[in-house]
Amino acid sequence: MPWFGLGVYKVEDGDTVINAVRTAIQNGYRSIDTASFYDNEKGVGEGIRQAGVPREELFLTSKVWNTQQGYEETLQAFSESLEKIGTDYLDLYLIHWPVKGKYKDTWRALEKLYKDKQVRAIGVSNFHIHHLQDLMKDAEIKPMINQVEYHPHLTQVELKAFCEKENIQLEAWSPLKRGRLFDNEILAEIANKYGKSIAQVILRWDLQNKVITIPKSVHENRIIENADIFDFALTDADMAAINALNRNDRSGTNPDSYD
Ligand code: NAD
Repeated sequence: MPWFGLGVYKVEDGDTVINAVRTAIQNGYRSIDTASFYDNEKGVGEGIRQAGVPREELFLTSKVWNTQQGYEETLQAFSESLEKIGTDYLDLYLIHWPVKGKYKDTWRALEKLYKDKQVRAIGVSNFHIHHLQDLMKDAEIKPMINQVEYHPHLTQVELKAFCEKENIQLEAWSPLKRGRLFDNEILAEIANKYGKSIAQVILRWDLQNKVITIPKSVHENRIIENADIFDFALTDADMAAINALNRNDRSGTNPDSYD
């Protein structure tokens, strides 16, 4: 799976998402993160086709929404996602949130899709350690990915260590905290030192922390800027300074609210 990709939450279906996805792919992105909840899978598919890069060179992620969870429901949701995107397989399919009483049946459906080779990797999103432990008690296949809110104000120290120990790859959503980190002075200082933007520094910090990152933008200049993070490296001191910004501050929902 690419370490870096485009997120398309809250990107309107139709021209907006088509243009964002096409622009990203034409500028080197190979991974796109959508979800049935985002209601833009059709446009994502169209953007991919317009970009003209072969399907097998791309990495497509989608997610099963809370109201679609359960074994049969998930199989149905998966085939709807394939149809909307216009593809015959996904690279990664995730359980969007740990809906209590449902996520184990949902996981069995993901295991079936994986064994049937309809999806190349399966994982979860927004799972705390206790959700992962509970799921793994009965799972035949371990989740390969856990996609969670992760940025300098929420560094998920324990969850990250747990996932590393269990060989579950962490992936960051809202890596830029939806634009709420751009007035941070420490980040600004580090960015100046490298001649990079704060967004680029944060995304580079993700990579050096071995966390997959999927920033969202619909603007060509930012789409290009966010991907331009492979020509510099943060020092250990800079990494430590960014790690120290943690406040355990969640901007999205706490996963336990779905319990
Ligand atoms: P993000 O942290 O990626 O922030 C996106 C916002 O930051 C943009 O809307 C824009 O305002 C700003 N921005 C982006 N690049 C910029 C730049 N270079 N300079 C200045 N501003 C810039 O927020 P996000 O969209 O919430 O998260 C990224 C992706 O993660 C989503 O699109 C989605 O794919 C995924 N996600 C998943 C979940 C989940 O529950 N699994 C939840 C939220 C998001």
